[in-house]
Amino acid sequence: MAATGNKKVEAELIYPRRQTTITSAVELSGRGLHTGKDCHLRLKPAPADTGVLFRRIDLEGRPVISAAADNVHDCRRSLVLGREDKPLVRTVEHLLSACAGLFLDNLVVEMTGPEIPACDGSAEPLARMMAESGSRKLDAPLEVLQLKEEICFQNGDVSLTALPSEDKEVSFSYQLDYGDRPPGRERCSFNLTGDDYLEELAPARTYVLKCEIAELKKAGLARGGSRDNAVIFGPEGAEGRLRFPDEACRHKLLDLIGDLFLAGPVRAHFSAVKSGHSSNQRLARVLVGIRDSLK
Ligand SMILES: [Zn+2]
Repeated sequence: MAATGNKKVEAELIYPRRQTTITSAVELSGRGLHTGKDCHLRLKPAPADTGVLFRRIDLEGRPVISAAADNVHDCRRSLVLGREDKPLVRTVEHLLSACAGLFLDNLVVEMTGPEIPACDGSAEPLARMMAESGSRKLDAPLEVLQLKEEICFQNGDVSLTALPSEDKEVSFSYQLDYGDRPPGRERCSFNLTGDDYLEELAPARTYVLKCEIAELKKAGLARGGSRDNAVIFGPEGAEGRLRFPDEACRHKLLDLIGDLFLAGPVRAHFSAVKSGHSSNQRLARVLVGIRDSLK
């Protein structure tokens, strides 16, 4: 029995496989979506129990920060890690989603700028380079939190549920609802098996509603945003060709997987309705609390 606040949640820790890392270093450069700043990324293999560790090699003292729920600085439009009220690494969700999707547990991410490159708006370039490096098993078991009862959040029309997995699978479903405005109503689901992430989920790009762009720019965000790294939905639908008919929904699911990486590995079925980075983080924090209470 584990406790979250004053509520007890049934859960246990299991060790179903060995931890992994990439086999060799891989690199990529590009501009961040929100800051518009250039950044060179170098992903390096890391020993067991490192998790994903970001290192800003452009700053004095080369500060590091780990991908952990306690290090979330801001999660309104993207996942920003930082400490002492200062952001250190921005827009980490696609990289973390790729790690979860490819079953990569340990990695050091060296960065020469403040934000992970937006690439084409999807996780595909990041995931492809990690997949090409390949995965190497480490001599340590992976600790996975297995839920034995349901956890549910509801906030207005947003809901997020984690259900116990009876079949040893980790799966996600997402429901998007913009009413009659494109992208409209979509539903998609994905089983995390380590196999089809690269083809089925990673290529789904970030999207933005045309009517939101001015507001984002005014808030100092989306400075690196363009048609090359985001799908724009206007009143008539997507501008340009979509990679999947339900690309927007798939992207939200990709983000959910990346956001929940901060909770550590969890075996459950996750079901989300209209949830975003903030609600995803609330669930991640609860899951961390459950894990901590079992130790
Ligand atoms: Zn995203």
